[in-house]
Amino acid sequence: MNPPPEDQLELFPGPPENHGALDQMQREIRFVSETVATILDSLPVQRRPLSDSTKALHVRVTWLRRNGYCPCCQQLKVCTAEGKLAGAAEFDHWYARHRNGPEETWLVCASCNRSLEATHYKASIRSAFESYQLALRPFLTAGQAELFQ
Ligand SMILES: [Zn+2]
Repeated sequence: MNPPPEDQLELFPGPPENHGALDQMQREIRFVSETVATILDSLPVQRRPLSDSTKALHVRVTWLRRNGYCPCCQQLKVCTAEGKLAGAAEFDHWYARHRNGPEETWLVCASCNRSLEATHYKASIRSAFESYQLALRPFLTAGQAELFQ
């Protein structure tokens, strides 16, 4: 027996009285998937740590362009010439906990990292972050090897 032509294929097989149940099931599946999406949206975003290469980049840029001082307060050493973290150095996620790229993070002292949790303080320091990012940019575009000599 040949299969029925395409225009005769039913989207929902079975007798017509089953179609209402299928509609109902579709509505319920849609409700469940929307609910799951809402739950996922409300979950706290996972903090994504910086990659080793991003950390190394910040250490080098901070050493070469900020003499190893915290680019936020300019007062505490946060890294050494040997590429090591110094004192209470921490990597700050400027935009959000899950945004961990070099242009979204920087190396600051622990004290600044705490202060940056306050919105008004963060707003006051934005220009320092942007200035640091301007210093970082050539390292991103030129490739790290050349500038790291
Ligand atoms: Zn600082």
